[in-house]
Amino acid sequence: MNYQEILNAIYHQIKSKPNDGELPSYIPELARINPEKFGISLQFLTGEEYEIGDAHEQFSIQSIAKVFAFSLAISIVGKKIFERVGVEPSGNAFNSLVQLEYEKGIPRNPFINAGAIVVADILISNLPNPAMDLLTFIRKAAGKEIIYNEQVYQSEKKTGFRNAALANMLKSYGNLENDVDKVLDLYFRLCSISMSCNELATSFKYLCNGGVNPKSNEQLLSLSQTKRLNALMQTCGFYDEAGQFTYKVGLPGKSGVGGGIIALYPEKFTIAVWSPKLNPKGNSLRGMKALEQFTTDSQLSIF
Ligand code: GLN
Repeated sequence: MNYQEILNAIYHQIKSKPNDGELPSYIPELARINPEKFGISLQFLTGEEYEIGDAHEQFSIQSIAKVFAFSLAISIVGKKIFERVGVEPSGNAFNSLVQLEYEKGIPRNPFINAGAIVVADILISNLPNPAMDLLTFIRKAAGKEIIYNEQVYQSEKKTGFRNAALANMLKSYGNLENDVDKVLDLYFRLCSISMSCNELATSFKYLCNGGVNPKSNEQLLSLSQTKRLNALMQTCGFYDEAGQFTYKVGLPGKSGVGGGIIALYPEKFTIAVWSPKLNPKGNSLRGMKALEQFTTDSQLSIF
């Protein structure tokens, strides 16, 4: 199989069509990104790597970072985490307030905003320096220096009223141990992490490799935790579009409103795509198309 040819064909075919979708205007800093950016990085555990377009340009990974935060939290507190956050697909928008009230302050899963805010709270309760410790975890996964983007962090902090509402509601139900502002601050920080497709594909290899970073051989998660994380990405990684993504792409993955998507095939490869314009569900429109085309052309879907 010539994977480079497959990526080239997908890239040029998608680029030749109108660039539909919208930039996420509710985070002003993200609305300023050039909507024509488009990159793909495909990395096999065997070491083969293929890429095209803006695969080395860093962008805001946004909710993709929730996977790292949840990995770190479950590696510290284990199964106890599920007393405070569920494992069911939300079937609702990632920032739904109604759902959180309906479910009495227990978020459906760790990847909707309310779930990730609870995960941030758990990190604060269990780590001496949660923002730094989270970065350290991500740096171990990526094998390089990764940073928070100050502008994106400030932009979201200024305009994150809905997330503030979610955090306050969680607090009212007794599902936040720490100060609301402190928890929100860590949540906005984790959403502000910048990475490229190339760095994302590398850093998700531990989830492709039974919890072990294949480069450093460090065990970041147990085999069982890795299995559960991949299952959660499959069922909850795309919010109320998790079914569509599973149906069309057939890989566990996670999206972010920065236009990034990471997906993986356990034991085989990781693939990261970035295109900033989003569909109405908040997932990268071209990114979804590219991955659908990739698993169709390569016949590499887990189903
Ligand atoms: N920072 C974004 C928010 O809180 C994350 C959402 C996302 O990437 N889906 O709204």
